[in-house]
Amino acid sequence: MTHPADLVAQYRAEGLWGTRTIAEELHEVAIAHADRDAVVAAQGRLGYAELDARADRVAVGLADLGLAPGDPVIVQVTNRLETVVAWYAMLKAGLVPVATLAAHRGHEIAQISRAVGARAHLVEAGLRGTDLVAFAHEQARDHPTMRHVLVLGDLPVADLDPGEARRRVEEIQRGIDPDDVAVFQLSGGTTGVPKLIPRRHAEYWYNACAYAEVLGWTSDDRVGHLIPVIHNAGITCGVHGAHAVGACLVLTDHDLDTALPLLVAERTTSVLFGHVHYRAPEHPLYDQLAATLRVVLLSGAKVSEELFAATGRGGAWVGQLFGMAEGLFLVTPRGSSAELRRTTVGVPISPRDEVRILEPGGEEEVADGEVGELCCRGPYTLRGYFGVDRPEAFTADGSYRTGDLAAVRVLDGHRAVSIEGRIKDLINRGGEKINAEEVELLLLAHEHVVEAALVAMPDPRLGERGCAYLATDGTAVTLEDLRAHLAALDVAKFKWPERVELVDALPRTKVGKLDKKAMTADITARLETEI
Ligand code: AMP
Repeated sequence: MTHPADLVAQYRAEGLWGTRTIAEELHEVAIAHADRDAVVAAQGRLGYAELDARADRVAVGLADLGLAPGDPVIVQVTNRLETVVAWYAMLKAGLVPVATLAAHRGHEIAQISRAVGARAHLVEAGLRGTDLVAFAHEQARDHPTMRHVLVLGDLPVADLDPGEARRRVEEIQRGIDPDDVAVFQLSGGTTGVPKLIPRRHAEYWYNACAYAEVLGWTSDDRVGHLIPVIHNAGITCGVHGAHAVGACLVLTDHDLDTALPLLVAERTTSVLFGHVHYRAPEHPLYDQLAATLRVVLLSGAKVSEELFAATGRGGAWVGQLFGMAEGLFLVTPRGSSAELRRTTVGVPISPRDEVRILEPGGEEEVADGEVGELCCRGPYTLRGYFGVDRPEAFTADGSYRTGDLAAVRVLDGHRAVSIEGRIKDLINRGGEKINAEEVELLLLAHEHVVEAALVAMPDPRLGERGCAYLATDGTAVTLEDLRAHLAALDVAKFKWPERVELVDALPRTKVGKLDKKAMTADITARLETEI
């Protein structure tokens, strides 16, 4: 399902959507800013012309392997210089990156890669505690469509002069429509059947352009990014966002102790901090970073007035970001009051975004100030998942039901959105989403587990972590037992419960549904007494 043709025409006529592919957009920016830094990471730096030319040659190398436009590639890599080269090389070859996580394991990858018909699997060698290269080879066995295991840093590079590589890339790009799928992002909290979000060239690039514009970025900006880069936030707020305006991406890993020295040395002007980085202002190097920061966004959990002040103490403007891989981004508008900034996540980044708060599951709009389900449609929000019909995820008029609870607050003349909770049953562990039902089904497969519920327990660093409530056949199942069980099922570690509460029977509501509110309240109270 794509956007209706009349809206597509309107988005183009208004200049929101372009007529180029993402690879062509990068090439144009690279011509305009050839000598400027495009990306800096611990492994080195690349100027725009270098990045563009290097990605051209890798793209031709990939094409010469027999990979063809439209072929999906499973991507499991971390924040490295070569990741950015590989990203654009895949797009230049017309391949479609599937944005999985380095943390995903057989349970996740096997399903996703079959659902999408992946042709190649890009992994990183040398990651601590895991051999993704061996994993990828293992995954390729008996896989109906998988043909190539690609290793970051060891990608095929065509032995051609730059002009010839460019000509080959242009030839490939001529066959790609700007409304074709460019990337598959994963929906937060994927259940048994993975929900893949098709992101298309023009709308995905527009998402990044609109974001860069509301933040006022220019080619003089140096954009720090610490969150996993292959996430939607990494691609949109980091890679494409910076490159849309010819700015430099300063790509670091998530550890503040290694990230901050690079951010400081590169005189970073803008950065996005997820909840796990809300401690950044306490770091001894933060004052040096604060001295060059102009714009900071905080995302993922409520922000206190103290945190705004500490983050912006060098003079930077600090706001909030709410975003999702399905599309919609909300950002605090510049010049807004302290109240708007603190109590809401701001306003949509596009004038064409349509945000409505509806009765959960219904079509009725609630009054301003009242809590309902955040629903939206617009020029960069999906109209349908890949390959599956999910009518329950959309309203009759094509708005996406986010599963987040929200209210409209009319403040400073803005219709700003406050986030009030969520209907969807997932746990937001430091930005990684864990689908409760998926984990519960896995726990129920344990021989001694009779009933299982996974609920969020508050965590000062990650925001939330998973706590399993279990009723068993009388056997005392421990956390270690569960971990061994989930390891045997090859489930990504971040989904493993981090605490177990054994009960005789799980609490249920009057209508017999699991009473997750009661369990969340119970574990929250227990944690408070344990402090
Ligand atoms: P993802 O698609 O993985 O980026 O996850 C999107 C989801 O993350 C949203 O639907 C929200 O539930 C949550 N989220 C994103 N930004 C925020 C925020 N600023 N505050 C609270 N929750 C957020």
